[in-house]
Amino acid sequence: MPPIINVKTDSRIEMVDITAAVRKELSRSGITDGTCVVYVPHTTSGITINEGADPAVCRDILMKLNDLVPANAGYLHMEGNADSHIKASLMGSSVTVLVEEGRLVLGTWQKIFFCEFDGPRSRKAFVSIR
Ligand code: ZN
Repeated sequence: MPPIINVKTDSRIEMVDITAAVRKELSRSGITDGTCVVYVPHTTSGITINEGADPAVCRDILMKLNDLVPANAGYLHMEGNADSHIKASLMGSSVTVLVEEGRLVLGTWQKIFFCEFDGPRSRKAFVSIR
């Protein structure tokens, strides 16, 4: 089992900055150069990298996702959370970040966000650093 980051979400739809937790796993790994993959093993949550400096960016992303994929739109999926599945696929289930000299190679404003689309729940993300 790869290292796991546990994520507790508080809302149905939410973006949680997990960059610090990923950095902790990187430092624990002792690996200084390579790639870090963060993978979300859920069908109604995703992961993305975007701006973490202005929280309005995440709010805008979530607002636009809700516009594009409304909660009720005549979906066939019986569980009632079709919009959550669609939003999860739009964000994707993994990100890859380069590792150099023991650091994640992220742009100045970039953060790694766990994206909840059917919360609140206890979630996890796997981290693989090679
Ligand atoms: Zn479902």
